[in-house]
Amino acid sequence: MTQVLFDYTRQDASGASRIEHAWARVPRAPAPAERAALKNRAKALLAEHGAVLVAHYYVDGDLQDLAQETGGCVADSLEMARFGRDHAAETLVVAGVRFMGETAKILSPHKRVLMPDLEATCSLDLGCPPDEFAAFCDAHPDRKVVVYANTSAAVKARADWMVTSSCALAIVGHLHERGERVLWAPDKHLGRYIQAQTGADMLMWNGACIVHDEFRGLELELLRREHPDAMVLVHPESPQSVVTQADVVGSTSQLLKAVVDGTAREYIVATDNGMFHRMRQLAPGKALIEAPTAGKSATCKSCAHCPWMAMNATQGLIKCLETGRGEIRVAEPTRTKALGCIDRMLAFVAANPAALAQPQRGFVRNLGSA
Ligand code: SF4
Repeated sequence: MTQVLFDYTRQDASGASRIEHAWARVPRAPAPAERAALKNRAKALLAEHGAVLVAHYYVDGDLQDLAQETGGCVADSLEMARFGRDHAAETLVVAGVRFMGETAKILSPHKRVLMPDLEATCSLDLGCPPDEFAAFCDAHPDRKVVVYANTSAAVKARADWMVTSSCALAIVGHLHERGERVLWAPDKHLGRYIQAQTGADMLMWNGACIVHDEFRGLELELLRREHPDAMVLVHPESPQSVVTQADVVGSTSQLLKAVVDGTAREYIVATDNGMFHRMRQLAPGKALIEAPTAGKSATCKSCAHCPWMAMNATQGLIKCLETGRGEIRVAEPTRTKALGCIDRMLAFVAANPAALAQPQRGFVRNLGSA
């Protein structure tokens, strides 16, 4: 077990921000022979408990493979939410971070939702404390409150809309067309990208993802010179200096599609490198290059991999099924209140499937549109 320490930004109700410290415990990687035995044990337990595994693209490759091989899913947070809600299994095991387990429980209160490690969280969630956020909303009652999925159930309970990076652009664009002003939380980079694309009036919370915030524009420029034909794929939680160099800006699913459908041989990818596991499986033969974090001479804080996603391991999956520990609970009335903003998003997505299919390519350098 390795303990990782890092800093994140936390805002308060007045709009002021401060730096806080957080930690994550990353389990040791099992030896190759042990991995096979662990996977077999996990498969047997999933079958024994009638459970289905719902895994995020950023978690360990063995967990992604287990989900694929046992009838579960590997997906982004939007698809994870829909899959867990619609699947018949009475036990969902969510491999990801805490807000993903909470969203599954909010949508399926009668199901048992387990997680390999309940302390796997997210800097965006930590940086947006519910009481401070509620006071901030109270100070701006004229704005529609739109929160990113990466927030606690209590923050969602205060929101009008939840969005994921797959549908954020379409939903904020829709609100803007209706003349609504938006209070956006918590990711400042994603918010700035959406504001630039839609022209919406958005008051921003000051939060950031500790992984994507580390990608650096200058280093990316240098890397692009070494790979002039590479396509640059960027998650919009990245800083503007990185997003402006992208050929495609999109959610994890949209970036995966860009690699699978793309005609280029090389791809520079600015998102968590856990994503490379599925990209390599679905687009073998294409060269994937990690976008640089923090410069070659700096001490890398994130190394482009989320320390909380790294807390998910096959050992944890086995333990939660064997012991029943790691169960997510969301108290009422928080659950019912949070359900409102999630259901609103899911209804919008169901009614507007084309909105998700559109490539998000606002700052597209090669296609020349702004
Ligand atoms: S990668 Fe970033 S946004 Fe995703 S869970 Fe980790 S800290 Fe949160």
